[in-house]
Amino acid sequence: MSLHPPDLSPQNMADGQRAREEQELSMAPPALEVDGISLAFRERRSSLPVLQDVALTVKRGEFVSLIGPSGSGKSTLFHIIGGLLKPQRGRIRMHGQDVTGERGHISYMPQQPALFPWRTTLDNVLLGQENAPRNHTAAHSQYASERERREEALQWLEQVGLGPFAKAYPHTLSGGMQQRVAFLRALLSPQELMLLDEPFSALDALTRADMQQWLLRMWEKNRRSVLFITHSIEEALLLSDRIYVLSARPATVMHVVDVPFPRPRREEITLDSRFSEWKRTMTDWMRQEKYKLDGGMEEHAESVRKNPTDNGADQYE
Ligand code: ADP
Ligand code: MG
Repeated sequence: MSLHPPDLSPQNMADGQRAREEQELSMAPPALEVDGISLAFRERRSSLPVLQDVALTVKRGEFVSLIGPSGSGKSTLFHIIGGLLKPQRGRIRMHGQDVTGERGHISYMPQQPALFPWRTTLDNVLLGQENAPRNHTAAHSQYASERERREEALQWLEQVGLGPFAKAYPHTLSGGMQQRVAFLRALLSPQELMLLDEPFSALDALTRADMQQWLLRMWEKNRRSVLFITHSIEEALLLSDRIYVLSARPATVMHVVDVPFPRPRREEITLDSRFSEWKRTMTDWMRQEKYKLDGGMEEHAESVRKNPTDNGADQYE
């Protein structure tokens, strides 16, 4: 039995609250479980196996990345998680519930910002909330009135330096600004899980580095559950708690990396020797997979040359 009175200082109370919240989060069912997903695209006489027994988990409040060679099936997996495609095998669970083949459970940020040119910046941000079903929990109030939602979106735009552009149309914004708008739209959608499909791939190197830092800060403040597709090993190491490395098509999970760097993270971790070691190891993995994929493409081209009637070549990138 303790003889000391409990420490009721605000700092101790806040620490206790945080510890309780973290414990609750760690006991909650994962935000996303991808369980043994397999899919092949079938067209007339040919079949293209794309995903083979893929399994991964995103716990609540985790930032998880998916990295794999181009054409390995990453976007296809996102389409399955989003309910746009049905897998031939496996289940998708969110917060413990089977949602395989169901739409409306995720917020999504695609490769291109996909803003509506006839809507202002503010109205593009609000779009995610207008289209979302009402039965989701998220960081912001789901029952807010339209005026409150506009207010909230405006405050976010101010925070990310886009306040003066709230009434501007997308074509007047730079690529980086458009991506921020697309990200805010996904962030303010009521679904808790965000899927980001190579959101920075079309940006120049400098804007991309800025956006990575921006996303890191935004995420560390908001702690949404994120599944992030990227081609960039460095980007994955900088942002993620965990990285799933996919093989060449048909994609399976080849490696899982628990990223060892503490948070909050800043660009300086890229100078850490462990960062370069991980980068080297992962680059080797990816290189081996790329060779396999290139080899596979050549084999396929060869078989098409030998048997021109069985031409499934349009399925390949
Ligand atoms: P990634 O996102 O990893 O680059 P994708 O998931 O977009 O790869 O594509 C994986 C493979 O599946 C590619 O070879 C692609 O051409 C093929 N593919 C994607 N969508 C379809 C579809 N609807 N029908 C047939 N093949 C498809
Ligand atoms: Mg893709």
